[in-house]
Formats: sequence, C-alpha cells, structure tokens
Amino acid sequence: MGRRVVSVSQNAVAQAESEIQSCDQCGSNAATPFWHILHKLRSKQELGQVVYVLPVLACCPGCRALIDEMTLVEPKSGSVLNSGNEILSQSEA
Ligand SMILES: [Zn+2]
Repeated sequence: MGRRVVSVSQNAVAQAESEIQSCDQCGSNAATPFWHILHKLRSKQELGQVVYVLPVLACCPGCRALIDEMTLVEPKSGSVLNSGNEILSQSEA
C-alpha cells in the first residue's frame, strides 16, 4: 500500500508539543491525533501515506501525561493547526 515510515527528529516532537494545549486526559476537546500535528508542521505530503515514529514521547503541557503519535490532543488556539481544517475534518470521517 506504499505507506512510508518517517522518523521525526526530537526537535520536531518538541515543536509539535508546543502547538498543543491539552491531551485526552485533561482536555475535553482533544480530538486530533498527535501525529496530525507533526504532519501539519513538517510536510506537504498527502495524509495517509506516512506513518510517524517518535524518537521520544511528547509530554502534555497541561497534565504532563506522555503523548505518543496516536494520543488525541487539542491544538492551541492560534496554532498553525487552525490555519486549515482539511486534516481535522478528515479525522472525523
Ligand atoms: Zn494532558
């Protein structure tokens, strides 16, 4: 199926972590998988063709829970994530 596994840098994880405000442990609006944020930050490739592998787990800024690529998170308002909704709406399909 041509899925590509991408290892992101620790830096990219930290950057994505700074774009979120809560996770599904502490936020009621957490509906975006963490990897969507990585994807949005780093690439223009089509969604669904890439599988992200994290070198380290991210940490929720709200409750310090560990976040892996599948953890649902809530992006900060004003984050780059809110500049386009195409990824968010696909995740609800
Ligand atoms: Zn949290």
